[in-house]
Amino acid sequence: MKTLRLILGDQLNSKHSWYKGNQENVVYCLFEMRQETDYVKHHIQKVIGFFAAMRDFAKQLEANNCKVIYFKLNDKSNTQSLTKNLQFLIKEHAIATFQYQMPDEYRLDEQLITFCKGLTIETETFSTEHFYTKRQDLATFFKGKKQWLMEHFYRDMRKKHAILMVAGQPEGGKWNYDKSNRNQWKGEAEIPPFKAFDNDVSDLVELLESESIKTIGRFDGSIFQYPINRTQALEQLKYFCENLLIHFGDYQDAMHTKEVYLFHSRLSFALNCKILSPKNVVATVLNYWQKHGAQINISQVEGFIRQIIGWREYMRGMYWALMPDYKTQNHLENHNALPDFFWTGKTKMNCLKQAITNSLDNGYAHHIQRLMITGNYMLLTQIAPDEVDAWYLGIYIDAIEWVQLPNTRGMSQYADGGKIATKPYVSSGSYINKMSNYCKDCHYNHKEKVTENACPFNSLYWHFLDDKREKLGGNFRMGMMYSLLDKMNPETLQNIKERALDIIKTPDRF
Ligand code: FAD
Ligand code: SF4
Repeated sequence: MKTLRLILGDQLNSKHSWYKGNQENVVYCLFEMRQETDYVKHHIQKVIGFFAAMRDFAKQLEANNCKVIYFKLNDKSNTQSLTKNLQFLIKEHAIATFQYQMPDEYRLDEQLITFCKGLTIETETFSTEHFYTKRQDLATFFKGKKQWLMEHFYRDMRKKHAILMVAGQPEGGKWNYDKSNRNQWKGEAEIPPFKAFDNDVSDLVELLESESIKTIGRFDGSIFQYPINRTQALEQLKYFCENLLIHFGDYQDAMHTKEVYLFHSRLSFALNCKILSPKNVVATVLNYWQKHGAQINISQVEGFIRQIIGWREYMRGMYWALMPDYKTQNHLENHNALPDFFWTGKTKMNCLKQAITNSLDNGYAHHIQRLMITGNYMLLTQIAPDEVDAWYLGIYIDAIEWVQLPNTRGMSQYADGGKIATKPYVSSGSYINKMSNYCKDCHYNHKEKVTENACPFNSLYWHFLDDKREKLGGNFRMGMMYSLLDKMNPETLQNIKERALDIIKTPDRF
């Protein structure tokens, strides 16, 4: 009696209990499919990264005497559809039981539920054994509460898992050191070179080309530098602890023209395809800190742990609590089209040029570039959330809908009316100038509002507040900004609005 076990491209958890039991009558299957390469236009490095990690994982399973059926993108038997491939294998191998790990994406979850309803053989689902929380834990935690704040969830996670806690109190006396994470980087702390792996993916580059897979972004050469297996991911994590943790929190929000990664971990891809577990990350960081605590301030450690057990788990919980309606929300009624420069990086606005170029070159931008540069601009220019989502879901190598959607539609675009962010993350040029060196080399002047070379963010910011007053005027966290707007000379506001509308109408001129 044979069992077929499906492994999706983001389920590469080699420590899963599946691999501990008797493997005699078990067949594992992994598929490279057009279904997955084509549902949105992905960055070329993202497609390559996933396929490289899947191929590596299949090899590891085979080395451990597991039976594996792996469909490459151009294999003749590959129907390019998940359910048709499964159907084919079930028949071909006289499968008696079909098992799968619960997908993290709603789309795939629905597809597999429907598929299983039509099967006459036994089916069984399993946890991916990856996250701290189960899909519905967050919704249960917040049941009956009006606001579902990340901070409340995060504190509960700290207590529940005894992380950075001493005798029931937060270690160091504070729950959150966010305020110490806001320094500009001016070259004072040396940034170590980023850790790169030597994964030769020339076969995959050729494959994508020969199969005419439409991708975005750039990939020069044939070496994929992010970790593609557990051994590499653990090396990356070790490198982070030894070299980057020391200033992670200090410069978490900083941006610089010469530095793409600063002190960020670059672990998101490894985490999201599950070659690395969040529990492992947290334990390793805490263990390192225990041994080297004298050199590393708690604010660096807490700042990092918060991202993993706080934001990452919170976003997943929000996704499962709010889908499928979440995907259609557009609270601010934004309907503009995404400017062309998001696909080329060709704009005179230096901050956008830097953030978009990083994204196109590396499939990476760090959090503040995503939130306060590209996201900020998209929100201020009132881009339709569907277009915003498609860009973010495609461009980053770590983009999988469960984490991309709540970050983009919720945190960044306020399209959910404030379920995730208590106010829209928007700013004028002064914030960008404070956190980066972008404005120094920019065509525009961050101090000007309406002159020919005034920073576009300045007029866009006030126009946005004015235009969305009906939706945002009552938000108590926006009170100060609205009182400043109210004091503005009407003629000045009129000039500001005219310039903003000009930018919105013809964004690619700027
Ligand atoms: P670090 O800065 O080193 O942080 C460590 C880890 O914390 C990350 O690897 C990630 O796993 C986790 N983390 C940090 N912030 C978040 C967050 N807000 N939500 C979830 N996890 C977080 N992250 C994704 O993994 N996939 C996405 O598609 C994605 N889209 C985003 C879209 C927008 C508009 C914004 C504002 C943020 C998005 N993020 C996304 C969150 C964050 O930007 C990335 O996780 C981070 O930049 C990855 O780089 P890193 O590994 O160097 O992170
Ligand atoms: Fe960006 Fe304005 Fe600064 Fe230019 S001046 S880099 S457009 S914030």
